[in-house]
Amino acid sequence: MSKYNITEDGYYGRYGGAYVPEMLYPNVEELRQQYVSIIESPSFRAEFEKLLTDYVGRPTPLYLASRLSEKYNATIYLKREDLNHTGAHKVNNTLGQILLAKRLGKTRIIAETGAGQHGVATATMCALMNLPCVVYMGETDIARQRPNVERMKLLGAEVRPALSGSRTLKDATNEAIRDWINHPSDTYYIIGSVVGPHPYPDMVARFQSVISREIRQQLLKETGHENPDYLVACVGGGSNAAGTFYHYLQEEQVKLVAVEAGGLGVHTGKTAATTTVGTPGIIHGSKTLLMQTRDGQIIEPHSISAGLDYPGIGPLHAWLFESGRGKFYSATDEEAYQAGIQLSRLEGIIPALESAHALAALAFLPLIPSDTVVVTLSGRGDKDLQTYIDRGGY
Ligand SMILES: *Cc1c(COP(=O)(O)O)cnc(C)c1O
Repeated sequence: MSKYNITEDGYYGRYGGAYVPEMLYPNVEELRQQYVSIIESPSFRAEFEKLLTDYVGRPTPLYLASRLSEKYNATIYLKREDLNHTGAHKVNNTLGQILLAKRLGKTRIIAETGAGQHGVATATMCALMNLPCVVYMGETDIARQRPNVERMKLLGAEVRPALSGSRTLKDATNEAIRDWINHPSDTYYIIGSVVGPHPYPDMVARFQSVISREIRQQLLKETGHENPDYLVACVGGGSNAAGTFYHYLQEEQVKLVAVEAGGLGVHTGKTAATTTVGTPGIIHGSKTLLMQTRDGQIIEPHSISAGLDYPGIGPLHAWLFESGRGKFYSATDEEAYQAGIQLSRLEGIIPALESAHALAALAFLPLIPSDTVVVTLSGRGDKDLQTYIDRGGY
């Protein structure tokens, strides 16, 4: 175990832990005691791997992007998480957690969702496993993310509006936690990123670590070396980045680049660049960096991409930032948008606007021609078509 792995009591450096109300303690404790032995068991691994292959469509390709490489004068590979079933990396985690829920004997699934991506991934798995599914979503988000709301309903899930506060993700999370407190014995709460109380951040990172496991194997086959010079991923809560970095945390010569959403600019008050403007505090049951006022009220984030529109980051990332192991950048809405158009034109791949933030960071890196870079393309851009259209200019 290196200093970048989680400790026995659930910390990365000074970040992490499980700050939960007493009434949630039994649920979280049950998970904490059982998660490693269940998810590392041969029968779990076999079922998880088989569905990752046959249902999700893994392994996803590691694609040498020649024209993008030419543009930045380095060797650039894209890890194609956009080719997963449901169009993003989130399914790796929801599949893992629903298999865990079944083994814990749970018969009802709940989740929170912001833009609806995690809600759709969860509803998909509940359909596959024939489990009832309730997804909490802020009323504001329901109004602006209609297609995902309809997808969840089509898949058989119930979408319950969160009517408090700003009626966005944090309010949906509060509702999901309230539900879990009221249904402690039969219900499993699927969290969508490397956030929440211990053991969620570590559990989600393990499920997403399939990304870096495959990168190692694919890069070795392709280049004769397992290690790239740079790994680049966008960070909302941080799950696709955690999966991308996981098997490289100890390889100090591999530079880990995390890209947050700068929004309109990090000092405009309309941003989601947590490491730039955030301070330590507690959000969703863990100690981490978050955007908050002096008296601890959460500041509403802003990003062009719904998936990065989160006021905190997972505790692993807070620690990678503080320890210097990770290099954190932010890309503005406009930089991400332009990077999305650029990839469409150069490679014929329309990326999710979240992933476009990772691509935008290529312009900030001090690349030299001998560098090998792997950028994780966390999702595809179909869901963002309306945003591309509204912004125009391509
Ligand atoms: C949700 C989402 C993200 C952000 O979530 P992480 O947990 O930070 O990975 C990034 N890209 C896409 C396509 C998403 O749907």
